[in-house]
Amino acid sequence: MEALRAEPERTAILTDVDGTLAPIAERPEQAAVPARATELLEALSDRFGLVGCISGRQALEARRLVGVEGIAYAGNHGFELLMPGEAEPQLDPAVAGREGDAAEFLAGLDEAKLGAAGLRLEDKGPIQALHWRGAGDERGAEACAHEIAVEAGREGLEPRWGRKVLELRPVGGGGKDAAVAALLAGRDFSVAVYAGDDRTDLDACRRLHELRDEGQLTTTLCVGVVSPEAPPELAEESDLTVDGPAGWIALLEELAK
Ligand SMILES: [Mg+2]
Repeated sequence: MEALRAEPERTAILTDVDGTLAPIAERPEQAAVPARATELLEALSDRFGLVGCISGRQALEARRLVGVEGIAYAGNHGFELLMPGEAEPQLDPAVAGREGDAAEFLAGLDEAKLGAAGLRLEDKGPIQALHWRGAGDERGAEACAHEIAVEAGREGLEPRWGRKVLELRPVGGGGKDAAVAALLAGRDFSVAVYAGDDRTDLDACRRLHELRDEGQLTTTLCVGVVSPEAPPELAEESDLTVDGPAGWIALLEELAK
């Protein structure tokens, strides 16, 4: 904690949202960030050089959920960047002209079949998500998602797996690793902390470790927010693990002291 608090103006605190700040809910629209977490991020943003959220949600949606205007948001797994106070996010130029590819692919599938398998579609612009949390037959729904992923791959889309969700996106651009790099770019940070609960968060952790190995950062801390459904590699690759969002919020509490 001493190393993290030593030079607050040169320290970045970055966090995933769902499963990290907000407990996982049955449906994405039911998720809520605890009021204490919102207060802490607000307080930390006054003291630290950068506070930012990196989310699979759209950036404006992440900001609405977290409830702090004055911090940065990278949305849609890094496809969107919304800096403090900005009205609209900037879209990653790497996907220009291909924003609609994933939606077009899904529109070509049999909607009734998706519904029967228990897959729910979430439209996030360039990224389209299929959720099966709470489906009558979660295993059956996941098997159907695997078939769709193979087909999507053949159509030039990139499938990414999360906690009971398959996301289809244009190849190239985005990524939580790119989001970390974009948020830290152009400023002289020495310390960065990142917390996340899922596979895509490991991309962010790896980038932080690279920046440290390259000498651009002196201290990095990757916090794995673990739960019974967390992928095993999360605990293996994190520097520290905490138990669920409550564990991460307790650590934010320490940082704010
Ligand atoms: Mg998450």
